[in-house]
Amino acid sequence: MKKEIILVLGPQGSGKSTQAKLLADYLDYKFISTGELVRRESKNGTELAKKIQFYQLKGELVPDDIIEKMLFDEMNKSEHFGFLIDGFPRNKNQLKDFLEFLKINDYSLVKVFYLDVSLNECLNRIKLRREIENRPDESEEAVKKRLDIYFSETAPLLEAYKDLGVLVRIDGERTIEEIQDELQDIMNEYLEEVRRNNYE
Ligand code: AMP
Repeated sequence: MKKEIILVLGPQGSGKSTQAKLLADYLDYKFISTGELVRRESKNGTELAKKIQFYQLKGELVPDDIIEKMLFDEMNKSEHFGFLIDGFPRNKNQLKDFLEFLKINDYSLVKVFYLDVSLNECLNRIKLRREIENRPDESEEAVKKRLDIYFSETAPLLEAYKDLGVLVRIDGERTIEEIQDELQDIMNEYLEEVRRNNYE
């Protein structure tokens, strides 16, 4: 059976990481956040860390080859049957490379959940988060840059997921529990269908 991939996508502040982590726990899939990989690596004091920080602190995307190597290595060393990926792909080139990687390694992209949250709501949530967490890459400038990149480079990928028949739009302006329940229901339905097809 092919290993399964789920993506969770939405602007910064949409709650995608929270939802992705909960869903990964529920399904026993491995959760991988490329943002977390970047934050982890950038603390290492290596040449690579310095290079990464240069982009990260400005809210710009780390070059595709660097982020792809980090993610693909992480996936290759895991024994999990399923993966929940947060923060990747962020642009057209990453999507192209990702689909190729999935094909070569026999992974199947089964769902892409898009958390639909208005820009205003995202900005409010980021402001609150900044007061609590004080992340160095969440300066006002960096947040603005990341949102700009999200809308110009990442959001247009939705069309491709729609064409692949894997896109599910989720109303992200509800409680964490309500959203998570819907995600779990959709996955249960999907897994039920896969099981039925396997028996037929
Ligand atoms: P995030 O927490 O997902 O917003 O990611 C934090 C930072 O890590 C981003 O602002 C980028 O600098 C970097 N990063 C995370 N994912 C990617 C990606 N797919 N491509 C390039 N850079 C990324």
